[in-house]
Amino acid sequence: ADGISIRDVQMVYRRGAQTTTALAGCDLDIPAGSWVSLIGASGCGKSTLLRILSDIVQPTSGQALLGGLTPAEARAQRRFALVSQHAVMLPWRRVLANVELGLEVARVPKAERRRRAEEAIDMVGLRGFEKAYPSELSGGMRQRAAIARALTLKPAYLLMDEPFGALDELLRDRLNFELLRILNETKATLLLVTHSISEAIILSDKVVVMSPRPGRITREIDIDFGHNRS
Ligand code: ADP
Ligand code: ADP
Repeated sequence: ADGISIRDVQMVYRRGAQTTTALAGCDLDIPAGSWVSLIGASGCGKSTLLRILSDIVQPTSGQALLGGLTPAEARAQRRFALVSQHAVMLPWRRVLANVELGLEVARVPKAERRRRAEEAIDMVGLRGFEKAYPSELSGGMRQRAAIARALTLKPAYLLMDEPFGALDELLRDRLNFELLRILNETKATLLLVTHSISEAIILSDKVVVMSPRPGRITREIDIDFGHNRS
């Protein structure tokens, strides 16, 4: 029960009289330590699934568990980290202070915070930029800083929603291979939402396809590219 488990999850958004069924009876199992990419047409419910797992919204019915914990419990125990398309960086804080943010909220003592933030900054290749402000970084570098911030918490589950979606394709490919190297150094379970088939193939052992109406997983494809887990 260490992986991610989605059981018969239904999500209905209500706005006044209007309702939208984003997920209808969605099921998915992600074994601990495996890397799964979730692909599907825009609007089919991918982000909704990540928002449920990261305790931003509650499903209308059904159950989502991370290592046997509900999303609320997993959040309280800081078991997961979420990285989204537009990384939120505090513009008045330098890169190092932005990367330390999660550890600060977790009340990790200052010296330990500094050490772990520097380690994560090294991992994503941003050494030398600790004192820069977010506005001085390129989009790719900001996303890498967001990944560093997620890594400082040593999350058992990494939830990524189009982490490089706002970047051009060439840069994406490069960052995908960097992310692959980083993932190889962690033992995290990965759930990655992406529009890019090549990103999905590079970064996962399994690609799951979601279809709109009904808003559920319709296909699972195993990837054995040989380069994951080098
Ligand atoms: P995807 O990530 O696959 O593009 P989403 O999970 O963002 O899909 O959206 C699934 C469906 O739910 C879409 O029809 C979208 O318009 C709708 N939806 C998403 N968020 C909300 C919301 N906060 N209120 C109402 N409808 C929403
Ligand atoms: P990325 O940000 O992913 O590295 P870019 O093409 O935006 O991709 O940047 C290429 C390289 O240029 C960076 O890796 C970095 O070494 C350097 N660079 C980008 N932005 C800056 C900056 N604001 N100051 C100094 N060097 C920069």
